[in-house]
Amino acid sequence: MEILNYINGEWVKPTVNEYFDVINPATGDIIAKTPFGTKADVEAAAKAASEAYTSWRRVPVNDRVQYLFKLRNLMRENGDEIAKLITNEAGKTFEEAKAEMVRAYENIEVACGMPHLSKGEFVEDIAPGIDEIMIRQPVGVCATIAPFNFPGMIVFWYLPYALAAGNTYIVKPSEKVPMTMQFIFKLIEQVGFPKGVVNMVNGAKDTVDGILEHPAIRAITFVGSTNIAKYIYSTAAFHGKRVQAQGGAKNPVIILPDADMEMATKIIADSAFGCAGQRCLAVSLAVTVAESKNEFTELICDAAASRTVGYGLDAGIQMGPVINTASQQRVEQLIALGAKEGAGVPVDGRGTVVKGYERGTFVRPTILSDVKAGSEIARTEIFGPVLSLMHVNTIDEAIQLVNSGQYGNQASLFTSSGNAARRFRYEADAGNIGINIGVAAPMAFFPFSGWKDSFFGDMHGQGMDAVEFFTQKKVVVERWPKEQDFKSFTIARRCSSPSRERDAPRNGIT
Ligand code: NAD
Repeated sequence: MEILNYINGEWVKPTVNEYFDVINPATGDIIAKTPFGTKADVEAAAKAASEAYTSWRRVPVNDRVQYLFKLRNLMRENGDEIAKLITNEAGKTFEEAKAEMVRAYENIEVACGMPHLSKGEFVEDIAPGIDEIMIRQPVGVCATIAPFNFPGMIVFWYLPYALAAGNTYIVKPSEKVPMTMQFIFKLIEQVGFPKGVVNMVNGAKDTVDGILEHPAIRAITFVGSTNIAKYIYSTAAFHGKRVQAQGGAKNPVIILPDADMEMATKIIADSAFGCAGQRCLAVSLAVTVAESKNEFTELICDAAASRTVGYGLDAGIQMGPVINTASQQRVEQLIALGAKEGAGVPVDGRGTVVKGYERGTFVRPTILSDVKAGSEIARTEIFGPVLSLMHVNTIDEAIQLVNSGQYGNQASLFTSSGNAARRFRYEADAGNIGINIGVAAPMAFFPFSGWKDSFFGDMHGQGMDAVEFFTQKKVVVERWPKEQDFKSFTIARRCSSPSRERDAPRNGIT
């Protein structure tokens, strides 16, 4: 597949000839090449989006959402095709890829409520005969910089809300997985948005820097690793933009002795090893409390060892490869680091070779046991199918351990005690909380939260937070005197001091 940019309603070749190989991580085949675009591509996209903005914001909101209804239907009709592309470029299983897209459709559906969601506020008679109004207006040109692990979904945490609210848009997919967005943009083309309303630029750092610096781009959303999130947040803010940047994670789960151990194990295994552990809400640190240790350890080791690993389009496969060789090597080195720091490796996924897919970058599910609090492996985001086990004696110690972490994307608890659950919900320092849930992914009508080093900004993606982020509030104070009153007001005004005039509404002087 040739990877092109989509600017002003046209497919255009990027301005450079340097390319990044897109490799199917299961087969090792090169399946596309991502052009490393330059700031010139961003310039062209920003120009198109700026020109389109003037008329797009004037399209009535109930007409704007008709484009999104059409896009959602086209995406659903082509859902299997999109999911296949996701499996081939990102490695997750076909079922996981289809599930990813469900959340994308759901976000479009919520954004289609924009005629209602974008309503403002109105208070009559803030002073006699004077009314005050709050109107939500679009921000202008907005952009998303996306990560590799959800090639189809993450852009839709933002784009539908931005477009429905009257903004125009630029998408920068991850250079590792450009094919899914390439296909989705073919559908965007079919929808028939006015030229320049939705644009796509491909590339890496130069393209991102072009977005961060461009004066016409008013708001940026980013999802990726924490170091880059900090860079995006500070650079975009320096250039005077609105920005929200989602970062990395190290998600803990506590298992209390009163948990249903079989259910807990199944759910925790799906969370830790689903999508090969490359989910920002994957559980990566399991903290057993008191006598839960032995049973949970035994069950989770069985669950890890029995997972079927292979090419995600083959039947019966439960887990695919990690994204590339660099990631495979990094994950294996981190397992070695854990062992060096004193952890046991009762289930070791290093050196995995899958028959028929010998060039694939597979790491089988791995368990690190007796991981020490404060060790490097306990702190580092692995982003692979590795679950670290830790043990404490009380729930107090467990909550303290959870709250001592650098990240705050998700924290979960498995228990049958309502009281323990309530306490955890109240005290855990994380933006997404799971109670007997392994992947506490918020539905589209809730914000996709994240705290501490997992998030930089104020408003999150999805739901009302996205409406807030992609609109700016304008407040109007209005007086409409009768013509006769207006004349007497004008005479009075000529005689009044400037400060008296400024204070008029507050003092009720009409
Ligand atoms: P990444 O940070 O490497 O890349 C993300 C984006 O940033 C890509 O589009 C990339 O081109 C760009 N980028 C990379 N280096 C850059 C640089 N030096 N300057 C400017 N731009 C740069 O992340 P990734 O490997 O694609 O994704 C995995 C990470 O994303 C993990 O850390 C994961 O936890 C995180 N993630 C977080 C969430 C969340 O909701 N918090 C969701 C998904 C993924």
